[in-house]
Amino acid sequence: MSEKKLNIIQVAVPTPLRRKFDYLLSDVINPDHVLPGMRVLVPFGRTKKIAIVLGKTSETEIDIKKLRTISKILDKKPILPEDIIKLLNWVASYYHHPIGEVFQSALPVHYRKKESASEQGVTLWSLTDIAWQADWSQLKRAVRQRSILEQLKNTPEGLTKQQLASEQEGQWQAALKVLCEKNWVSSRTKEPRQKRNEGHTDSQIEMIKNQGLFLNHEQQSAVESLRQNKTVYFASLIDGITGSGKTEVYLSFIEEQLKNARQVLVLVPEIGLTPQLINRFEHRFSVKIQSLHSALNNTQRMKIWQQTANGEIRILIGTRSAVFTPMPELGAIIIDEEHDLSFKQQDGIRYSAKDIALVRAKNADIPIILGSATPSMESLYLCQRGKMAHLKLRQRAGNAKPPEVHLIDVRGQYLQHGMSRTLIDLIKQHLARENQVLLFQNRRGYSPVLLCNKCGWISHCHRCDAKLTYHRQRNHLRCHHCQIEQPLPMQCPECGHADLSQLGMGTERVEKVVREIFPEIDVVRIDRDTTQRKGALQSMLELARDGKQQILIGTQMLAKGHHFPNVTLVAILDIDQGLYSIDFRAPERLAQLIVQVSGRAGREEKKGQVALQTSHPEDEMLNTLLNQGYSGFADKALAERKELLLPPYAYQALIRAEANKIEKYQTFLEYCFQVLTQVKQLIETTDADADSDIQFLGPIPAPMEKKAGKFRGQLLIQTCQRKHLHQSLNSLIQTVEANKAAQRVRWSIDIDPQEIY
Ligand code: ADP
Ligand code: ZN
Ligand code: ZN
Repeated sequence: MSEKKLNIIQVAVPTPLRRKFDYLLSDVINPDHVLPGMRVLVPFGRTKKIAIVLGKTSETEIDIKKLRTISKILDKKPILPEDIIKLLNWVASYYHHPIGEVFQSALPVHYRKKESASEQGVTLWSLTDIAWQADWSQLKRAVRQRSILEQLKNTPEGLTKQQLASEQEGQWQAALKVLCEKNWVSSRTKEPRQKRNEGHTDSQIEMIKNQGLFLNHEQQSAVESLRQNKTVYFASLIDGITGSGKTEVYLSFIEEQLKNARQVLVLVPEIGLTPQLINRFEHRFSVKIQSLHSALNNTQRMKIWQQTANGEIRILIGTRSAVFTPMPELGAIIIDEEHDLSFKQQDGIRYSAKDIALVRAKNADIPIILGSATPSMESLYLCQRGKMAHLKLRQRAGNAKPPEVHLIDVRGQYLQHGMSRTLIDLIKQHLARENQVLLFQNRRGYSPVLLCNKCGWISHCHRCDAKLTYHRQRNHLRCHHCQIEQPLPMQCPECGHADLSQLGMGTERVEKVVREIFPEIDVVRIDRDTTQRKGALQSMLELARDGKQQILIGTQMLAKGHHFPNVTLVAILDIDQGLYSIDFRAPERLAQLIVQVSGRAGREEKKGQVALQTSHPEDEMLNTLLNQGYSGFADKALAERKELLLPPYAYQALIRAEANKIEKYQTFLEYCFQVLTQVKQLIETTDADADSDIQFLGPIPAPMEKKAGKFRGQLLIQTCQRKHLHQSLNSLIQTVEANKAAQRVRWSIDIDPQEIY
């Protein structure tokens, strides 16, 4: 007797549980119509949820009688292709994150919420035979209907609603409805464009709007190297100083991909840099190019996602989450400013879009290019090991000359609100030549500390281990960590003394000082406070780009990517903040910041100057950077990491816990520590080369233990072999998930943490 084969559908349900779920299929649904990547509606607890089909099976570990049935199939075709499903599975297992949440976060919001969002084609309206044969003169008084017919008459293949709307006015939608009802006009859904065939190059010429620049020698050899591996997995690092023409190299390589009928994915950091970049792309190519960034609304994002997934958009430029966009003809991935921290998501799924992109390229067997003037230690290490080609661009393209960098020793100098005499004189010289000056201060607000001169009271945030920043314009104190705001006290809350000092410099104060010293000069401050209004950043950047004899003041928003042709002097007012930090990555970050900020000086024909104010001019790292450049610094930093067995020579994971009481997170992390110690012993006894590979640091309080009223602690795991890290975490998760009592805290796992706080 043969038993009827069961149709069990495995799905990813958005829940914090780290597992897939099994459902049955009702008899009326043909199992062949249910494919991986389709959305289904499933009963879950007492509600229903939108889930994604992962696969089919005939076996389950669950008691068959307890299995529930899928309520509804939501899509006619999969919305996620196989390669993305595979990628997301990898993400869930690598980051030890619940698979349902991984799939959920990779989808545009409409797909997560709306059951009927999957219509992918466009609806076109056209005349029916009835209309063609009818006598239109009977419509003399139905002006709107007549007007619609006239418009449709010219386009037999049909028009979209948007196209109709562009010429119609008034109640035309009602008129269209009438025409449909009497069968004069009909609508149909045009299927999304089909995949183009390989080698289909008939419209090659049309893809290129403008030829690229004549590449210099270095650029040419970079492009040559890229060209040699343009259709297989191959990772390259373009390590090129600012202005060396990296973008020009990307463009040449993209051209090759377009000629091959391929799509290209370009990942960029989370900044307002995209418009400038997009303009350059659009100037060069006539294919459809779109950018996917955080300022878009859900409908816009959905549209771009669909048009990329159906192959209409050929170049997608996006921030980190764009790495999940389906691209059926993906031919290459480019990651610009690859060192940038924003490629790592710092909450929820703490993924690195860069690492995911590398996996995606490998899976798809296509090339991937990482570019930066200040490559990350991780990428340089990959180059050292021969896993990535190291392409160097050491000259500025065109006529631009590299800036001259020097330190201003502020010890013993009188500082006029944070600015030395030397710096002020330097600024005057540059302004006198009608050039712009950029002052960089990585701190918003007026002053970061308010101090009572009598009793020593300091403006602490009561919800965080942090000080409140004084914002002068809005005349209040604000915490930059929990955003709480308080009125400025008129007197010391402790002793009543009226003399409160504002200590330290924020950008707002720099602006005030600069206006006092240079009353006749135009000053533009660009930071998060001055650019909150939509479009404000864009218009301020334009102001700054066209300006002459101007002082620009900014936070790290200005350090990246932007191009100001008239800036000839860049100064960092205080680099000492970054010199001494407990984070082993702090020197790397500071070196990157210095080099990136310096890159803003003297592009084009004007030679630039960079001034760094410090009271530690003897600092070794600074001097290496100044004398041997970023690559000299990087060699040294890598050697140091190797010596100390730190990433990239070791792998780390951070377990973070958060609770309303210190004891709670401590108890949880102690428990994790015990579990992990046992796991470590087990691994070490079964695996010969695991001997003392697994190390723990902690549990310890987070560097900012109290934040927004919650207490936070952490436990770091470090290994030299990745598999040991993952084995340990897998066992830990299993044990913790089985122990309900242990889970009274919020906790998360951060694989390859970039910021250890
Ligand atoms: P990067 O991306 O490395 O900062 P870009 O590609 O933006 O460099 O180039 C910097 C500037 O140099 C741009 O204005 C660009 O137009 C110009 N440029 C790049 N390559 C060349 C070249 N081969 N000849 C002349 N100018 C170039
Ligand atoms: Zn006081
Ligand atoms: Zn706070």
